Formats: sequence, C-alpha cells, structure tokens
Amino acid sequence: MTTYTPMIQQYLKIKAQHKDAFLFFRLGDFYEMFFDDAIVASRELEITLTSRDGGSEERIPMCGIPYHSAENYIKNLIGKGYKVAICEQVEDPKSAKGVVKREVVQLITPGTVMEGNMLTDKENNYLASLSAFDDGTFVVAYNDLSTGENHVTQLSGGLDAVISELFNRSVKEMVVDSKLPEQYQNELQQRLQITFSTHDNVTIQKEDEQLTQDLHQEKMIQAFARLINYIRLTQKRSLHHLKPAQIIDLNEYMTLDMFSKRNLELTETIMRKGKHGSLLWVLDQTVTAMGARMLKKWLERPLLKKVQIEDRYDLVEGLLQQFFERESLREMLKSVYDLERLSGRVSYGNVNGRDFIQLKHSLSKIPDIKNLLSTFASEKVQALSPTIDPLTDLYDLLEQSLMNDPPVSIKEGGLIKDGFDGRLDDYRDASKNGKKWIAELEQREKQETGIKSLKIGYNRVFGYYIEITRANLHLLPEGKYERKQTLTNAERYVTPELKEKEALILEAEEKSVELEYELFIQLREKVKAYIPKLQYLADQISHLDVLQGFATVSEVNDYHRPALNEGRKIRIEKGRHPVIEKVMQQVEFVPNDVHFDDKTDMLLITGPNMSGKSTYMRQLALTAIMAQIGCYVPCDKADIPVFDQIFTRIGAADDLVSGQSTFMVEMLEAKHAITNATENSLILLDEIGRGTSTYDGMALAQAIMEYIHDNVRAKTLFSTHYHELTTLDNTLDRLRNVHVRAEEYNGNVVFLHQIHDGAADESYGIHVAKLAKLPQQLIERATDILADFEQKDTPAKGKVTDDQQQLSFFVGESSEKKQKKDFKKLDTELLRDLQSLNIMEMTPLEAMNVLYRLQKKAKQD
Ligand code: ADP
Ligand code: MG
Repeated sequence: MTTYTPMIQQYLKIKAQHKDAFLFFRLGDFYEMFFDDAIVASRELEITLTSRDGGSEERIPMCGIPYHSAENYIKNLIGKGYKVAICEQVEDPKSAKGVVKREVVQLITPGTVMEGNMLTDKENNYLASLSAFDDGTFVVAYNDLSTGENHVTQLSGGLDAVISELFNRSVKEMVVDSKLPEQYQNELQQRLQITFSTHDNVTIQKEDEQLTQDLHQEKMIQAFARLINYIRLTQKRSLHHLKPAQIIDLNEYMTLDMFSKRNLELTETIMRKGKHGSLLWVLDQTVTAMGARMLKKWLERPLLKKVQIEDRYDLVEGLLQQFFERESLREMLKSVYDLERLSGRVSYGNVNGRDFIQLKHSLSKIPDIKNLLSTFASEKVQALSPTIDPLTDLYDLLEQSLMNDPPVSIKEGGLIKDGFDGRLDDYRDASKNGKKWIAELEQREKQETGIKSLKIGYNRVFGYYIEITRANLHLLPEGKYERKQTLTNAERYVTPELKEKEALILEAEEKSVELEYELFIQLREKVKAYIPKLQYLADQISHLDVLQGFATVSEVNDYHRPALNEGRKIRIEKGRHPVIEKVMQQVEFVPNDVHFDDKTDMLLITGPNMSGKSTYMRQLALTAIMAQIGCYVPCDKADIPVFDQIFTRIGAADDLVSGQSTFMVEMLEAKHAITNATENSLILLDEIGRGTSTYDGMALAQAIMEYIHDNVRAKTLFSTHYHELTTLDNTLDRLRNVHVRAEEYNGNVVFLHQIHDGAADESYGIHVAKLAKLPQQLIERATDILADFEQKDTPAKGKVTDDQQQLSFFVGESSEKKQKKDFKKLDTELLRDLQSLNIMEMTPLEAMNVLYRLQKKAKQD
C-alpha cells in the first residue's frame, strides 16, 4: 500500500468501508472506479476499461463516467441489484493542501432510491428489515423512502411465513442482522432474489423516537430501528417526510401464502412476470399513480371484516350509480400529481419549480373534487367531501410566489413572481431600468451618428457593446468610442458610461438570481411544514381513485355486488373468470354456477383435459379475493362467506428457481394447505398427484381428500383426471361430484365448458390427442390399450400403496407406523372416539368395554 499514490491510498481507505458497493470516486468532471469495481462496472455498463499509474508496479484498472450523465448508469446498476456509493470532493480543489478531501455523501441501494426515473410510478419501492427473536418470532419492518410510509409486522409462522409475507410486496432490498443464521440468510436470498444488506444497530435514535409512537413492543421498535438506522446511514440527509410506523396485524387480513399469490396471478403472471394478464391488470382502472399503488396493496391484503368490506361496496355503489359525475371525477383525479412522492422529494430537497407548479395545479382541483363529491346521491360518498382539506393557504402561497413556467434548474432564476418579495422587485427594477437606459442610448447614438444600423448588443465575454458595420465606419467620428473587438465586417465599441450601467445591470441580475434561489429554498421549507397534511390528502385521493376504479371496472365488465353471509355457503350464479373472459377473443366465455350448500364442503371436478376445470377453480378464488378487497364480482349474483385464507395447488408453477421437482412442490403446497387451513378457508387442489406414477398419485389424492374432508373441513375444490376417485362420494358425505361437459360429434370432442352435477363418464384424453392430429395408427393403438386397462382392476377407495414415502410429508417422521391407514375415514373416526374419551371419569370396567369396542371397529377394516 505504501507504494500507491496518495489519491489511490485515499480511494482504498474509503472503499474499505463500502466493500459491497461500487465506489463512484469523484475526480473532476468524472466518477472513476478502480480495481475490481472497474472491471465489473465496465462489463455491466459496457464502458471502456482503461488503466492508470497509481504508484505501484502494475497499472490500476480504471473506468469512468461523466458526472452529469451518472444518473442513467446508477439506475442501471441499481436495477441489477447493486449498490452505489457516491464519493464527492468535499473541499475546493484550489484551496486543498495535498489530496482533495473526499467523502461518501450518499449510498444508493435498490431499496432506498429516490430519484424519480429509478422508481416505478405504480409500484411501491420497499426496503425491509428482518429481525429474528429467541422465542421464534420474526418482525419485518418496511419503508418506502419515496412515499415515507413505514410498517411493522410480526410473524410467528417460521421462515416460510416470512417469505410469504415478503414475496410479492415489491421489496427491493432486505436488511438483516449479520448474526442471522447463515442457513436463513441463504434461504431468503435464494427464494426472494433481492439485494441483501446487514445492519446491527437496533437502538432507536432520539430523532426517530416519534416514528415509533405506535409500536407497543420492544421487538417491533428494535426491528424498526434496524431499518431506520440503515436508512440514516445510507442517506445522510433530511427525512422529514417519514410517517410514524404503523403496525400491520396480519390477523386482520386474508392469508394468501406465496404459492397462492403466484398461482392465482394476482399482480403478475407466472410465465412473463408482467402485470399484463394478471388480476391487477383487469382491475386497475385507477387514474393516479398513488391510486395504482394503493390498489396493489389492497390486492395483496384482502380484508376479513365484513363491515369494512361492505363499507367499500357502499362507496363503489354510490360511485357506480352516477356515470357522468364519476366520469368528471376521473377527469379531475387525472390532473392530481403524485402528492405522496412529491412530499418525499420536498423533504429530501430534490424538488424544482416545476414540481411546485404541478402541486399547485393538483391543489387547484381539490375544491372541485370536494364539491363534486357533495353532489352524489349516496350519503357515504357525500360524507367524504367534508373530510377533504384543499390546503387553500398552501395553494395561495404557491400561486403568489411561483412563476407559471419555471425552468428545471432552481439556480438560474425565472422562478419567483414579481410582487412577492420587495428586494427582488428592486433588483429587477434596477436591471430593467438599466436596460431601458441602454435602449435609449441606442436611439440617441443612432441619431447623433446618423448610422441607422448602429446597435447595442450583449455577450458573456465582453458584456454590452456598440456595434457598427464596416460599411458605416466612415460615418463614425474618430475617437468617439473606445474600440473593443474587431469582426470581419463590423467593429465593436464601448463607452465608460455603458460599462458603468453594465456593472449595475449585471450586479442586479446576479443578486436577483441568488435571491430567487434563497426564496425558493424558503418556499420549500414552508411546503415542508405541509407534508403531513399533503400525505393525508394523498391517502384520501388514492382511496377515492381505487374506489372509482372499482366502480368503473364493475360497470364496464358487468360485475355485481356480492352478498356476504355469516355462514359457510357459497352460491354464485353465472360466475366468470375475470381475466380469461378479458383475454379471450372471438369466443364467448361460458359462465358457470358455483354451489356449496350447508351440507357440501368439497366439490370433486372431473372432465377431459382442456375442458375448463382449472379455470373454474381459479374463478372462485379470484371472485373471493375481489369480494374481499371491496370490489364487485364477475357474476350475476353471489352469496359468499368471508374466507380467512386461500390455499392453492395449481399446476404450471414449478419452482424452477429453487430447482425443486414438480412433485415436491406439489407436496409442499398441499402440506401447507392441510396444516394451516381452517373450516373458513378455501382450498383449491388441481390435479394433485399428477407428478408421480398413477397409483401413487391416486392414493395420495384420495388420502388428501379424505383428510381435508374429515379433519380440515375447509371449502375445497378438487379436480382430478383419476376417474376412479369419483366413487368417493359414497364414503365422504360432504363431497359432491361435478363435471365439465364435453360432447362428441362424429368422434370429435367439443368443449362446452359447462359445469354439471355428477361425474364425467370418460376421460376423453384420446380424443384430445385426435384433436391434436396425432397419427391415426397411434390413436387406434391407444384406444386398444385403454380398453385393456379398463378390464383390469384399478385401485379404488381405501387402498393405499405400499410405497409410503410420499405420505410422510403429511404425517411427519415420528409416526411412520400409523401413517399407513392414517387418512382413511375409519381411522379418523377411531381417533375422534379416542380423543373424546374422558379417562379420568371412567371405571376400569368401562375402560375395558370401550377398548373392546374400539378394537372391534378397527378389525372391521
Ligand atoms: P382443464 O383444467 O380442464 O384442462 P382449463 O381450465 O385449463 O382446462 O381450460 C382450458 C381452456 O379452455 C382455457 O384456456 C380457456 O381458453 C378455455 N375455457 C375454460 N373455461 C372456459 C369457459 N368457462 N368458457 C370459455 N372458455 C373456457
Ligand atoms: Mg387444468
């Protein structure tokens, strides 16, 4: 190290404190990177790798980017999950003795970007911290720096629950304890695929205490402290806009595990990872970015409280009833700017005059919105009106102070209106008078010299000058003016008087630009004081936007208000799949009823491939979710309960990233559902057992159905291509068979996509092959083989294969012996009998009798 030049030594010292970030080292007009940073950055950013002499024997790898175009490069690196440390010169190079002092002034990370063009308008940008506690609980704290929101959530369901919570919440970066067990860190990284950072200071600083006022537990404060201390460390600037941390109690929301969120394609599709084709895509009729972000949050956390949900329906209904008023409301909302992120930038100090003009325009719409709401017939909609504060004084302040078309820069004047500040007016007058004097001078000199083309001009180098064309020079009396500059066909002159005025004008202009900057900063500070009110307004506007979006989408797509029942029955008439009906072209979507009466908990759906089984199942789950976020639902009529959780096992979601096999994923998802579901949950199991050999699969499918039927009692939709399972309705009394109809015309299958009672009669698989135009010879052979199979015995109810390996997922290792028959109805009954015994109150004889009866029952099997 001793051989390096002082600057490289300085570099290495700073770099040592930012090992996990690219160090953007300011050198004149460039940010330079050295050593490994340079090698990686040149590859990632496709810029030239060079080298420089750094005092050592070998030259040092180096690459650089101009500082004025750094933003795009930073964006690129952040987008790839990297962090960037911005290291600036913090003293004037001219006055520096030795190497210029440099410091890291900001650490930009994926979870803490503030710059507008690195953020997605319609999505939050969360940084999350995770803290693990000895009692097995985890606390996750979230922050979106751009909007200022903070949340804290406590979880007790182990690491799986943490991953489910974080998944799909637009978390871009995660801060963990450096002592979090490595296996946890690895699993989190692998499954979430986001940037990781560590931070260990969990003591809340004095200045942040007010942010923790609602956190009533030490654990939550610690978790939040980890988050906020990391933010302070990376940002090093004012964070006035941060809102007090809110506790999110997960018990107040429907639980959707990670698999279901993904399988149901709520906010993005599985295949393309994009919004197009997701439920969010269909439902998003918001017109503001704030509203779009709120809708996404609602979708991620459907409600459980009937009153809350119905409150939303009432508002949607009120908005839905008045088309024209709703359309005007949409128009007004469209001109409301992103107040949430604007507040963030005000506090952060990176707003300009144009932002404030947008703010002014936004505020100017609020009184209209307020008035419009008061004209709605619905009382609930009307009641929103008085709660909205149009922040008139803020509007007036902006109106009085800011010019209407300010430049991007806040350092070049052109921002502040005349009449707002006396001193500014004086400077402007001085400059104006000076300019007037110059105009008069031009007239005077023209007359005196008789040169019509004489003119007074200005440039940055020479200031004001009198210009006379060469052709007219002979008219100018010798020595009248002082020669300054010679051009090819003109001469430029000055006079002492002109120079004097020039000095006055330039001074006035310089002072006025400086003063404008000062006034702008003062204005910004004044606006800062309004941040909490602006954030509240932003929240109200977002709400209104989401609700008008629901009303709009419900009208356009013909959705209807569901009735929520307290019981467990489901009755949906002419239900549709909200996404498929939208993407289908040419053909009409075929609506179907869903009916679970008081005596039905489980529907077993059979039908040929491609008939619509999966669609029917998802349709129900999506309808439930739409209902519980307060939206109307795609059907003619719905009477449904509020589901506490939805579980799904639906094909085509193989976890390619973590490299697990289809079958393993299937079993994990099924296990997850079985262990967590209650009788108020909804379970969708689509062709369980498909990923393994037939007998295995069928045995598992049956065992799972029996287990859910007897022990879980959740509302369950189960689809299968194992036709044999349809006889289960003989033994499972709350199971009903339904099938999707397909009809045969001239040996071809026509899919009707209609759900009917009872089991499907045959499998149609071969007909599908025919449709796919496989060779005739092959089809004939398959038909023969099928006939052969059908003659042989197939394993039906009650027979579980000897290969019990798969089952152990459900039973756990400790109970290998009992697993064989564990899921059969009889055993469950036996178990229940056993559990219900009150041994303490039995005589020995009674106990003997019961034991005898139980054994007899067991032997029947
Ligand atoms: P399965 O699960 O029975 O194999 P899917 O549910 O995947 O069948 O449906 C296959 C295709 O059939 C869907 O992609 C869709 O195009 C169409 N489809 C399904 N249900 C309907 C319906 N109710 N109306 C119209 N088309 C449907
Ligand atoms: Mg299917």
